[in-house]
Amino acid sequence: MIDASHAAQLLTRYSMSRAAYALLCLAVAGLLISSKGSVEILAGVAAMLLAIGVLALQRFFQHRLSEHTHYKAIIDQATDGIFIVDAIDLKVVYCNGTFAERLGYTMTEALQLKLPQIFAVGDASTESLLARLADAEARILPMQQCCKNGNLMDIELRRNLLEMNGRSVYAYITRDVSVRRKAEQQLIDNQQRLDRMAHHDQLTGLPNRHYLMSFLPDAITSASATGTMLGVVFLDLDRFKHINDTRGHETGDKLLQEVARRVRSCVRDTDVVIRMGGDEFVIVLRNVKSHEEIAHGASRIVATLNEPIIVDNHALQTSASIGVSLFPRDGANMMDLLKHSDTAMYQAKDRGRNNVQMFSAVMNRKLEHRVAMEAALRDAIRLRQLDVHYQPFVNLLSRKIVGLEALIRWHHPVDGMIPPDRFIPVAEETGLVVALGNYVLHRTLQNMAAWRRAGAALVPVSVNVSPAQLQRGELRSTISTLLKTYGLTPDLLQLEMTEGAVFDASIAQTGESRQDSIAQLRDLGIKIAIDDFGTGYSSLSYLKHWRVDMLKIDKSFVRDLVTDSSDLAIVSAIIAIARHLKIQVIAEGIEGYQQAEILRNLGCNLGQGFLFAKPMPAEECLAILSSKTADPEPVADDEDVDMLALHRIANE
Ligand code: C2E
Ligand code: MG
Ligand code: MG
Repeated sequence: MIDASHAAQLLTRYSMSRAAYALLCLAVAGLLISSKGSVEILAGVAAMLLAIGVLALQRFFQHRLSEHTHYKAIIDQATDGIFIVDAIDLKVVYCNGTFAERLGYTMTEALQLKLPQIFAVGDASTESLLARLADAEARILPMQQCCKNGNLMDIELRRNLLEMNGRSVYAYITRDVSVRRKAEQQLIDNQQRLDRMAHHDQLTGLPNRHYLMSFLPDAITSASATGTMLGVVFLDLDRFKHINDTRGHETGDKLLQEVARRVRSCVRDTDVVIRMGGDEFVIVLRNVKSHEEIAHGASRIVATLNEPIIVDNHALQTSASIGVSLFPRDGANMMDLLKHSDTAMYQAKDRGRNNVQMFSAVMNRKLEHRVAMEAALRDAIRLRQLDVHYQPFVNLLSRKIVGLEALIRWHHPVDGMIPPDRFIPVAEETGLVVALGNYVLHRTLQNMAAWRRAGAALVPVSVNVSPAQLQRGELRSTISTLLKTYGLTPDLLQLEMTEGAVFDASIAQTGESRQDSIAQLRDLGIKIAIDDFGTGYSSLSYLKHWRVDMLKIDKSFVRDLVTDSSDLAIVSAIIAIARHLKIQVIAEGIEGYQQAEILRNLGCNLGQGFLFAKPMPAEECLAILSSKTADPEPVADDEDVDMLALHRIANE
């Protein structure tokens, strides 16, 4: 920027030079003396001096004039707007073309302006404008100028107070920075947009996980400083994957947006709702007064999500499982609070979903137990602590062994035999069940091959499979490879799946592809049994469409069959359905003769239970299968003795 004082000084230097004044004074003095003393020489000198003075003065003015013209040209061509204002009446006394042009005035119009018309200061008084402009003498001052058309222009300003022709003036130099400001603003906007994108979820507009990571520690610090409680609520939608899979992602997205809106509407402005990703949300409730208040708040969220959500004219039924941890009670830092609310959320899932669970120390112990169990189970696979036992299926009429069920066993070096009910659920949660399932399949076919080599007559063996094994989609190829490896035919293998694994649509895979997986297995020639039948909540209509080979009546119905008429009704209904659909039916958990008798009378011809045999190791099984081969004749009336013998072997 041109220095204002310098530029203005150039314009105001009209006073004569001291030298020229001195010469003139000398000349005049000489003339006076010469006139009084009549000394000719002196007169001559004076005349000469006068001539020289006049000449010097003339040259000075000529020089000044050309200097002025140059400087004026420079100022007029300057790309900064320059204007001079009278310090008293604040009228513009001079301006350059850039100044007038930028503001949209002609030179004549610009020279009519008064200072307050030039600057945009809203309702501020002229005094306050002048006070503000005074700052421009010490530093570059950012201001806005008013254009003729009313637009505002961002400028930077310098000012100097000068003397011009004996009056005080302010010389202003202004630089148009509107383009730069716009670019700066764009940069700031971009930065803010990126920041927002990084900290907010695009779909719901809610803050995201990154936001939570920076926000929660601060919220904990301030809760700790004020001695207040903080609630960390972990929310996971129930069966969202199913909606996504069956209705499509677009519907899933709309559902999530509505869920976000509803959750937000349940909490105060000071509370923060975060979308962690997928169907997981975290809500941080601040200034919580009591445990009841937070439990109440969380229940309100559960209730609001229970109302059907309409998406594209479809009413979608949703629910959420919620876990809550409290600061300071359940954790002093972010990681503990999040971990504990997550644990509580899983507890809510375990308790049948659609409910709220507050974190508790017991829960934590359970979690720790689960984690320890998972680690021990991994070791069990590695250290070959697992084995497979077999329990016979018996024909209740002929009392012959018609099949076996393969049941996994874990011999823990310290804890002894760990029942599958204790570790299969952990294996299912962690995905380890796929490795376990492959082990059982492998071991079973290996044992069968060994039995055959030993001369035993093979019967079909039923192997339990978990939903995760079905979902992986590799079950079919694993089985065909194993069958080939051990030279066994598919009709010797049956797979047991629970109703949930086959029919429960909420289990990850879509209904159709699960149907495909099962159909492919059946195509191989493998039989499919529905295990624990009657304990699930599947629609019976599935049985019509999805062909299965066997229903296994759950042992909970068989247990009290003799005394409980409802169990009797249920069991006879299942047998009737199976018969109607031409599906084999077998009763699990037969422990007494009376149960066996009732079942036989109801038309159930197959049974499994401690009455006949407990699950037994492969070697014992070989003995029984071999004796079966040894006595292939139809079972005589005194067959009961054989069954009991079988029973005895198994219990030894
Ligand atoms: P399940 O498939 O329904 O197996 C039958 C269970 O009932 C077995 O328990 C068996 O020992 C027990 N049982 C048989 N007869 C009687 C009886 O007369 N009375 C009583 N009270 N119980 C009887 P187990 O071996 O402890 O297995 C429990 C569950 O663990 C199995 O139930 C099955 O769901 C699961 N499981 C076992 N092995 C495997 C496996 O290899 N893979 C998978 N995914 N799950 C398995
Ligand atoms: Mg089973
Ligand atoms: Mg069962």
